[in-house]
Amino acid sequence: MTAPRVAIVGSGLTGLLAAQGLQKNGIRVVVYEKDPSLDFRQRDWTIMLHWGMSTLGKILPQEVRDIFPQAFCDPFYKEEYPPSLPCLGNMTGKPAFHIPSTWMRLISRQRFRRVLSHGLRIECKKKLQALKHSSDGDGPVTMVFEDGSRHEADIIVGADGPRSAVRTHLLGEEKSAVVNSPWVIAMTIFSYGDAEKARFVRQLHPVWHMVYGPEGIGALAVTDAGKSNDPKEWQFYFVRIWEQDLEHSINGEEALKIFKEKSTRLCEPFRSAAEWIPEGSLCNVDQLKYWVPEPWDNRGGRVTLAGDAAHSIMPFRGQGFNRSMEDTLQLVEAIVKIRDGADRAEAMASYDRDVCARGRDAVLASLEEGKTNMNYERLGTSKTATRGFAKEVRL
Ligand SMILES: Cc1cc2nc3c(=O)[nH]c(=O)nc-3n(C[C@H](O)[C@H](O)[C@H](O)COP(=O)(O)OP(=O)(O)OC[C@H]3O[C@@H](n4cnc5c(N)ncnc54)[C@H](O)[C@@H]3O)c2cc1C
Repeated sequence: MTAPRVAIVGSGLTGLLAAQGLQKNGIRVVVYEKDPSLDFRQRDWTIMLHWGMSTLGKILPQEVRDIFPQAFCDPFYKEEYPPSLPCLGNMTGKPAFHIPSTWMRLISRQRFRRVLSHGLRIECKKKLQALKHSSDGDGPVTMVFEDGSRHEADIIVGADGPRSAVRTHLLGEEKSAVVNSPWVIAMTIFSYGDAEKARFVRQLHPVWHMVYGPEGIGALAVTDAGKSNDPKEWQFYFVRIWEQDLEHSINGEEALKIFKEKSTRLCEPFRSAAEWIPEGSLCNVDQLKYWVPEPWDNRGGRVTLAGDAAHSIMPFRGQGFNRSMEDTLQLVEAIVKIRDGADRAEAMASYDRDVCARGRDAVLASLEEGKTNMNYERLGTSKTATRGFAKEVRL
């Protein structure tokens, strides 16, 4: 059998992970990324790997598994995390609930991208504009990029994030459009350059702190313990979510001012953590968006979606990438079956059906979770409070 040539659009975590899994199975794969390099954007965030982590071992080749710890937010912290992660109520400053946390690992998205890029062929400055293919379900697909270049492959995987161009090709502008949630997400990354402040802010848990209340949600983490684990060098990531309709996204100084104003009524250490953020630190305030998957016509098994392109899950229970990892394993298995002679249309349709159904459940669940998380009276009934980050299983 001739192995299909696979093109992955997007070098986020999903695209890179899928490429690693395919390459490990001897399948020719090229990743196309619109940015000039993987480090082009300064924006980073932390991702909690939990129930999806077991699939990583199945997808990654040994040489990438070996360098996986380079993605950890704090590679100096080698033990299991303490058994529970306290989630404070901002009215009291006391734990509102605990999440079991021993089996988790907090990674930096950017550093994990660097790890996952190991040994892959990645073509940067390739912004996909259009896909061309025959209408009979046969023959290769041609990708047309913004720079005018064209490349061909047998299977195209759209891993190009929440505003996926591949999704627009499959479903049209209207059906593929992201939806505004009622919430705003504000993220900042900074170092205090002051050991005392850094230790104070990191007092509750080695890497991860959460607060819930009428002022919205806050999560605070060490994203980078520096070269020598000197608290003066620790880099923190602080994300807040609150209810608001924004007219447009806000960056920089204005965003940081809003972030600080919105955090003055939080309990400690969150209040001081926000107040002490140095001026000039990276900060963005955006409307939180989602997309509920609906079935797409995969053009005879030649075009599909993965990760946030297939289901833009909001981050209330840290499910998005954990879900992507599971989907990615299934995608790799489907393409391996095609290489070994399975019918392409059938193998890919089976993948699409599962990803779409599970993704739909997960996106709708994230919407519900947002509502209970943001309503302090109902917080105790939320999935986060009652089930932590555990996987939701569809019967
Ligand atoms: C604040 C926050 C916290 C989160 N926390 C967690 C967590 O704790 N646990 C968890 O499981 N998940 C979490 N998530 C979700 C997780 O980050 C995403 O699910 C995951 O990163 C998905 O990555 P992706 O590769 O599918 O998409 P993306 O990261 O969006 O990558 C898409 C890539 O495609 C490229 N691209 C876009 N358009 C084109 C084009 N036309 N042509 C070529 N390239 C293109 C982009 O430049 C980008 O590199 C969180 C998300 C946020 C925002």
